Amino acid sequence: MLGHPRIGPRRELKRALEGYWASRSTEAELREVARSLRAGTWRELAAAGLDSVPGNTFSYYDQVLDTAATFGAVPRRFAELGLGPLDTYFAMARGVESTPPLEMTKWFDTNYHYLVPEIGPGTTFSLADRTAVEDYREAAADGVGTRPVVVGPLTFLLLSKSAEDAPKSFRPLDKLDELVQRYAELLTELHDAGAGWVQLDEPAFAADRTPEELELLRGAYRTLSQLDRRPDILVATYFGDPGDALPTLASTDVEGIAVDLVSNASTVDSLARVDGLRSKTLVSGLVDGRNVWRTDLDAALGTAAALLEVAGEVAVSTSCSLLHVPYDVDAEANLDPHVRPWLAFAKQKAAEVVTLGRALREGRDSVADELAAARNAVQDRRSSERLRDNRVRGRLDALSADSYRRSPYDARRAAQRRTLDLPPLPTTTIGSFPQTPDVRKARAALRNGSIDQAAYDQRMLEEISRVIALQEALGLDVLVHGEPERNDMVQYFAEHLDGFVSTENGWVQSYGSRCVRPPILFGDVSRPEPITTRWAERAQRLTEKPVKGMLTGPITILAWSFVRDDQPLGETAAQVALAIRDEVRDLEAAGIRVIQVDEPALRELLPLRAEQHEDYLDWAVGSFRLATSGVADRTQVHTHLCYSEFGEVIDAIVALDADVTSIEAARSRMEVLDDLNAVGFGRGVGPGVYDIHSPRVPSTEEIEGLLAAALRSVPAERLWVNPDCGLKTRGYAEVEPALRSMVEAAARMRADL
Ligand code: GLN
Ligand code: ZN
Repeated sequence: MLGHPRIGPRRELKRALEGYWASRSTEAELREVARSLRAGTWRELAAAGLDSVPGNTFSYYDQVLDTAATFGAVPRRFAELGLGPLDTYFAMARGVESTPPLEMTKWFDTNYHYLVPEIGPGTTFSLADRTAVEDYREAAADGVGTRPVVVGPLTFLLLSKSAEDAPKSFRPLDKLDELVQRYAELLTELHDAGAGWVQLDEPAFAADRTPEELELLRGAYRTLSQLDRRPDILVATYFGDPGDALPTLASTDVEGIAVDLVSNASTVDSLARVDGLRSKTLVSGLVDGRNVWRTDLDAALGTAAALLEVAGEVAVSTSCSLLHVPYDVDAEANLDPHVRPWLAFAKQKAAEVVTLGRALREGRDSVADELAAARNAVQDRRSSERLRDNRVRGRLDALSADSYRRSPYDARRAAQRRTLDLPPLPTTTIGSFPQTPDVRKARAALRNGSIDQAAYDQRMLEEISRVIALQEALGLDVLVHGEPERNDMVQYFAEHLDGFVSTENGWVQSYGSRCVRPPILFGDVSRPEPITTRWAERAQRLTEKPVKGMLTGPITILAWSFVRDDQPLGETAAQVALAIRDEVRDLEAAGIRVIQVDEPALRELLPLRAEQHEDYLDWAVGSFRLATSGVADRTQVHTHLCYSEFGEVIDAIVALDADVTSIEAARSRMEVLDDLNAVGFGRGVGPGVYDIHSPRVPSTEEIEGLLAAALRSVPAERLWVNPDCGLKTRGYAEVEPALRSMVEAAARMRADL
């Protein structure tokens, strides 16, 4: 397998890290937890019977940051802090008071976030940190020979950004030759320590790459494969079809290439056309490393057998690192018993890899029982009545073009003006208010049974009335109920929809010590009963001002869940959209005049290859429109996106056809508004006017300045005033004065219109 989770089966690393950061424990204690997690992983993988155990899969924070540390790519502002190696590393990850951290961004199209290295002409690479070698030695001392895994040089530089002081013409890739020399040193040290193989990850080649980048790939691996003292080299591509990178790598002397055969069905066929694989080990990623379904082992074996014709040697693996799935299905005590046998988490996936390997080498009979069990589970899932809901399918079949369309915007705008009667530059927030310790305590108490549902609901209602009263007092124009009842914007909906199950321990690392527990979408999705209306209705009863109903959109629900793999994602999206459409209509019927459907993940699910964009955006936009077009003209639909560099999705944002779109903008100033103008976006827009990520309270003048900038691009009748998203993560001590400044700034600007 290509990699393993590292946060710990019980999130031990999370607790150890947070304890260390809060000075509740020492570095030695943290290192001890790390050491025992590593030992546990090796023990488990060796016991599972893997022929080749991945090494160096542990990380205190992030594997890209590890690579930066390995090669000494530490920007001066961190080096100058004069901290020890581990604290310098954490300073890069989290910042310290005087120094902001590295930027963090999504790891390809997953929900994992990595830290973006900063590389400039002055970056001097050196083999500064030998963790990969020490990890190898430590495993060897534990009796396990590992295959150290390191992010490859091309992917590392392609994911890096130019240091702030670098000249405009500089690109991190300019430093490739120098970096490859340091990789060469690392490989030699690994060889001398006894490593037989090393794995260099190059997922960047699952995305579109230029001919020049492919030539650089060829050159780098030629250099590395010509070293005298080195382990055998496995280059791992994953998250999609490696395309031209495959023949490129095959033309070098690397011994192995790993290919993801799950994410793209046609990759298998393209392998047959690649020269040079006959002399290589092809590591076939047949077990899905990103999803939780049990593998169809018969089908996987069929594929592997066909590959024997193509490659010198065929090994079996997961499609990518198992970082993206939870540890162990058996850790779930309360899983739906129908769904449980269909699932495989990291531990089960390791067993699948071993079974496939044995079947290939020793024949199917050697693992007949395992294959039969897998066949049964796959059959059971395929034929399960739980997957199909004919009512949902009938509804989808009955949809027409009108189901995706509202009246022209001008007609809607006129109708909304009449019912809403808002001032120019209306003020609002993105939805959540601070989740106080009280709210969290109530949720924990409900979970452990010390209060009942009625008592819990009562606490939530009290919280909602507090939040409404506060917004009234502050003078906001469109209020929210504050979302106290929601643990998470996706999990909450998944818990209330049919077709999903939730886990108790299915944690997956999102970044650093942060984990998420994605719900599992296994079957046709429907909404048994209204989810949010009773809260919205109660909130609306407390005020004359419009209260905005708050929902999560279909794309985001999919993006942050494990989704079924037995039908196209677009079909699943349409089902989720129908459920949200029902909710939108019920909110309208309950007297809610403004409804926001959040889609922060619209850009995140964008396929890595441009040729797939159109198809994706087509169904993604369609699902949002299906969810939101079932209401009257007078009902105002908002959407919210957590970013403002729209890039390739900018036309899609227009196509969503929301009446008002709020976006994150405070940190990027108001430039995004011009981008929107350029594509003719003539709707309401609410660029965030203060950065929620910082505890700083913005002044009225500062916000006025941003609004004045915004008004240079957007006419007053289309401009909304709201903060960036994330009030939930802050305390009232900051939120209250910040919103006060915001409302005051809007009032002053209005007076000048
Ligand atoms: N309505 C959500 C909130 O304010 C939106 C969260 C998000 O943008 N990710 O919490
Ligand atoms: Zn957001």
